[in-house]
Amino acid sequence: MKAYAMLGLNNTGWIDAERPVCGPLDAICKPLALAPCTSDVHTVWEGAIGDRHNLVLGHEGVGEVVEVGSLVKDFKVGDKVLVPAITPDWNSVEAQAGFAQHSGGMLSGWKFSNIKDGVFGEFFHVNDADGNLAHLPDGMDLATASMLSDMVPTGFLAADMADIQFGDKVVVVGIGPVGLMAVAAAAIRGASDLFGVGSRPDCVALAKEFGATDTINYRDGDLVEQVLDRTGGKGVDRVIIAGGDLDTFDQAVRMVKAGGKISNVNYLGGGDYFKIPRVEWGVGMGHKQIIGGLMLGGRLRMEQYSDLWRAGRINPGKLVTHTLNGFDKVEEALFLMKDKPADLIKPVVII
Ligand code: NDP
Ligand code: ZN
Repeated sequence: MKAYAMLGLNNTGWIDAERPVCGPLDAICKPLALAPCTSDVHTVWEGAIGDRHNLVLGHEGVGEVVEVGSLVKDFKVGDKVLVPAITPDWNSVEAQAGFAQHSGGMLSGWKFSNIKDGVFGEFFHVNDADGNLAHLPDGMDLATASMLSDMVPTGFLAADMADIQFGDKVVVVGIGPVGLMAVAAAAIRGASDLFGVGSRPDCVALAKEFGATDTINYRDGDLVEQVLDRTGGKGVDRVIIAGGDLDTFDQAVRMVKAGGKISNVNYLGGGDYFKIPRVEWGVGMGHKQIIGGLMLGGRLRMEQYSDLWRAGRINPGKLVTHTLNGFDKVEEALFLMKDKPADLIKPVVII
């Protein structure tokens, strides 16, 4: 089958790949819509998880089932399905411990375009179909559905890990598509002052629409000073990191109050360590927590986010600024994500 792959570090292209084989619990799907991710960019052009050869890229999209295993109960050929970027093994001990993302070892629930071929092929394989797929809800357009693969779950995970409480002051560093969904999630969880940090005008406008009460341009001056200025020098209760670099952790520790929480979903593409400022971390005793996590995946979450969409609480289709048509446009979409023109938030390819 035809597929778009990472050929090696800094190198992508079309390949002739093996059509995936369906096991008894699995499904094989053909894509109806596909989206590239900043994570694909980290993987190929930063070598963030090491070298890969002829690994089919992509982990975001919507599919139609073309084959199911003999033990699959709830899906059949012809069903249109939401496909999470992370597809854990739900009967693993890690899933029983509450960290399905790490079923089989750290990050091993992240299978597409990491440990097996991703979704940028004429067909793709979904393990544990009953546990991982969800039916495409009536009336949901393919662009919106594509954002349920990764952008919505990751933004919501960021807000969940930050443990936002009613009235918390929150900074979301990075308002690309992930940070924008984190803004939406923080608003739903009851943030009071909600600051979105970014510079691109379209992202700034959407951050306000999704619930940011204010936005901060990190290019206009020191980010920590800008946050402290807006909070009477006190800082905020929660910081979500959905953009930036290793230095962002230092800034986050400086802008969060004692007892505050810092939640990272940024995929750290390079460098070996980040620093924690000793004094601002309360010389080791400031009760400032830092957590980083991978979106959960799985059917339940897909259905819950679909319900949020159906009830009008979220509108992730608004992230899609560029719609391309035809499987051949996957390459162009990936390079849009790599080059990030100023008016781009997220591209989607409709097959
Ligand atoms: P984008 O590149 O679209 O957005 C990044 C945001 O960070 C932009 O708003 C950008 O601002 C801002 N930014 C860049 N540099 C700085 C800086 N120095 N200080 C403050 N803000 C800065 O990324 P995405 O939204 O697509 O993805 C965000 C991250 O999430 C990526 O690393 C991605 O790989 C990761 N990810 C993680 C997942 C998980 O499960 N944990 C799943 C999916 C993605 P500007 O407006 O100037 O561009
Ligand atoms: Zn992604």
